[in-house]
This record gives sequence, structure tokens and C-alpha cells, in this order.
Amino acid sequence: MKMKKEALNLDELKSKISGSVLTADSEDYDSARTPWLLSVDQWPEVIVVAENTLDIVEAVRFAKANGLKIAEKNTGHGVARPANDNMLIVVGSMRKVYIDPINKTAHIEVGAKWIDALEKAQMEGMAPLMGSSSDVGAIGYTMGGGMGWLARKYGLSVDNVISYDMVTADGELIHVNKYENDDLFWGLSFCGAAFGIIAAMEIKLFPVKTVYAGSLMYPREVASEVFVRYREWITDIEDDWTTTISIENYPQLPIVPDFLQGKSAVVVRGCYAGPVEKGEEMIKSWLDWMEPMANLFGAIPFKDADSISDDPKDPIPATAQSIIINELSDDAIGILLNRAFAQNEPTPLFTTEIHHGGGAMARADKDAVAYSQHDAPFILNMVGLIPTPEASLAYTEIANGIKSEMKPYSTGNVYMNFLAGDEKWNQTKDAFTPEAFKRLITLKNKYDPKNLFCFS
Ligand SMILES: Cc1cc2nc3c(=O)[nH]c(=O)nc-3n(C[C@H](O)[C@H](O)[C@H](O)COP(=O)(O)OP(=O)(O)OC[C@H]3O[C@@H](n4cnc5c(N)ncnc54)[C@H](O)[C@@H]3O)c2cc1C
Repeated sequence: MKMKKEALNLDELKSKISGSVLTADSEDYDSARTPWLLSVDQWPEVIVVAENTLDIVEAVRFAKANGLKIAEKNTGHGVARPANDNMLIVVGSMRKVYIDPINKTAHIEVGAKWIDALEKAQMEGMAPLMGSSSDVGAIGYTMGGGMGWLARKYGLSVDNVISYDMVTADGELIHVNKYENDDLFWGLSFCGAAFGIIAAMEIKLFPVKTVYAGSLMYPREVASEVFVRYREWITDIEDDWTTTISIENYPQLPIVPDFLQGKSAVVVRGCYAGPVEKGEEMIKSWLDWMEPMANLFGAIPFKDADSISDDPKDPIPATAQSIIINELSDDAIGILLNRAFAQNEPTPLFTTEIHHGGGAMARADKDAVAYSQHDAPFILNMVGLIPTPEASLAYTEIANGIKSEMKPYSTGNVYMNFLAGDEKWNQTKDAFTPEAFKRLITLKNKYDPKNLFCFS
């Protein structure tokens, strides 16, 4: 039974942990509850700001004893559901990362962002399989698949985890790998947040120092030609290339350079993890084909990979919807061009980016993890900026319209990391095969039968 707020013995909890326990009248309550995605407004009953794994253990035991459900927040880039009236465990200060250069692995603590692992790994000439922004939490990203700029060469982050340490719904710390708690290892690998709090993970690192990477920006007037050339380009492209093509509508906001504010463009992005000269040659073929408005390709240390997408760092009121698509047919391209570009007035649809799948992602051992979208040919990610309820409604209408028209080209599945808010919540099932989903329910009943971890 859930205890009333007044009946919660928070002094007892405070006496057991090194971090802090916050309620609505605490000074730090607002900053602790606010996620990076400002579109989610959450009001937990109790917030535990954890400083170490023992704090997480004690917080979980307290929540269980007092009938509180538990949500976890690291950066708040991917909050699925507001943790209202329950317990939020905030882990953002637990950012330790240890690199093992001999075995090419990294041990990553619960609150580490990719930047923490990236900087240390690059000192040893290695890279983690992070995504477009090193500001994102390493574990949260991995729980949703983890498709970054090395995905076609080395695979998804979720396929390259060696082990997890997890705090269970009983408040026990357990080690999970292919041999120990192997059923859970399969399930944590894509659905971890539903079973407990992952206190740490050990991942593989890869030998990547310099990449040839960046973006080509073309005016919207030639978008159709750019899409067709992109489709031809990726037909037989090497796995060393991970690329996307994106329709972008730039808002009139300070995060956007002046010359782009209020404009739209089509952008080809890519990261080549092979010899720099070969990457340069490939991009020259684009430049010879058509001069872009901007060419930001160049040889960069992988530690600067954030520059490829240049995602915003400061929190924003963003949201996202996503579908997996089979093909970039002429008709599919036509739908995207008609629907995704702004029409005469500002649009809340910021970017409509298509990620090219395949390569090492498709070659992974599909039975080893619950993740079920290894064969996705293309993943469409529609990011919206929704500072007002009206913008939110307008975004939903546009995104739903695109999804509906793209249905003939869609697999009917989704990629979890490119969903936000209700979409993430409502479409969880579509991220899995029916068999995997059934197996996950069995695991959930075994490890968290009371659904303590119900927010993710
Ligand atoms: C700017 C931006 C760029 C992105 N780029 C990419 C990209 O290139 N590729 C890609 O695949 N995804 C990308 N994403 C999606 C991102 O990976 C997800 O939103 C991810 O869930 C963020 O994790 P987090 O820990 O930072 O966020 P949080 O909101 O703190 O966590 C997200 C979810 O994971 C759960 N969770 C996090 N850590 C743990 C843990 N230790 N134990 C249990 N549950 C946990 C939380 O409870 C929450 O439900 C991007 C998102 C943004 C906003």
C-alpha cells in the first residue's frame, strides 16, 4: 500500500544515504526533477539524489517498503513518463568511467554521459559506440538500442555490452552477463529500465581515432535530386560509412545560426571510419555532382564527433516520433518532401532524419538480446520543438500525417530511442517481435512482479 506523504519516514531514509532526499519544499527540488526534455513536467513525491550505488539500493528498499513506484533520471534526454507522486532517483552525479586499454573495454557508472567515456577512451585511441550527442547518458542510450556514427561499422551499443550491475526491485545488487543471470542479460539489453536500475555496465571499445565526417547542406529546391542521389550513394556503400539524410526547418531561435533562421534545407550527414583519403574522395564526388550551400565534411578526431549533428546542448522542449521504413522509393521520398518541409509558415517539425541501417547492426547475434530491429533498413526520426500546447498539437498532427502516408513503406515497427513521451509509452510493443515481447513479460513477472519500475 502506498504511504501518504506525511507518513513517509524520510528521516530514516536520509540517515541511510550519502546523497540527498528532496521533497517539493526543498531548494533543489526543481532542478532535480527537471529533465533535459523540457516537454516533460514531473512532480515526484520524493527525489533521492544518489551519490553511490548503496544510495540506490537504500532508495529502492525504501520505495518498496512504502508502496512508492520508482523512476530513474540521468540526463533526462529520454523521459518516457512523468514520475508524478512517486520516487525519482537522480543519478547524474555518479559519472565514473574506467578504461581497460588491454581488453579494450570501459566500465561505466550509472550517471556517466558519453562524453565521460569518450574523452578517456580517445586517450587510448579507442571509441565507445556513442550517438550524435555525447551529452546523452551512456546507459539510457544503450537501453534503447544505441545507434551512433559507428553503427554500420561496429554495430549498436546494446550488442556490445559485456555485463551489467543491476539493483533489483528487492534492493539487491546483482551482476548480469551471458553466464550469470543470463535470462536477464538478454532482457536488459534493450529493456533494462523495466527491470531495475542499472548501476553500471561494461562495454566494448573500438579502435577509432580519426574519422572523415560532417555534413553537406543543400537548398530545399533541389531536395528531390539530393534524395535520389543519396539513395543511389548508399546502395553499395561500405560499412565504414554511417549516414543519414535529413529535411530540416530551422526555427528562429538563438541555437540556430542567423543565416539559417526561418529557412529549410536538406542535409546529408555521414561518418567514415576508414582511411581519410577514401572518405575525402567520396565526398568530392558529391561536390562534383552539385555544389552544396555548405560543406562541413573534414577529417576530425572522433572525440569531436558531436560536430557532425551539432545537437543542442541546453535543455529544450523537444519531442520525437519514429517509424522504421523499408525503402526510399520515389513515392516515399515524395511524401517526405511534401509533408516535412515547412509550408509558408513556421512549423514545429524541426528535423525529419532518415538513418541508414544495415552493416554491422544487421550482422549482430539477434538471439543474444531483446532488441528486435537489427534488420531495419531505414529509421525515420521526426524531432519536434513544442514550447506550447498549440505547437505540440501541430507537431502531432504533422508527424501522424507523415506516419499515416508512409504506412505502405513502413515495417510497422519502431526504434525506441527515437520516441519520446506518450509515443514511447504507447508503442513499446512495436519495438519487439511478438516472441521477444512475450519473453519480456515473463521476465518482468519474475524480476519486478509488482511493477515497481513502471515509468520507463
Ligand atoms: C539530443 C539527443 C540526441 C540523441 N542522439 C541519439 C543517437 O544518436 N542515437 C540513439 O540511439 N539515440 C539518441 N538519442 C536518444 C537517447 O539515446 C535516449 O533518449 C536515451 O533514453 C537517453 O538516455 P539518458 O540516460 O540520457 O536520459 P534519461 O531521460 O535520464 O533516461 C532515459 C530512460 O532510460 C532510463 N534509464 C536511464 N539510465 C538508466 C539506468 N541506469 N537504469 C535503468 N534505467 C535507466 C530512464 O529511467 C528513462 O526512462 C538522442 C536524444 C537526444 C535528446
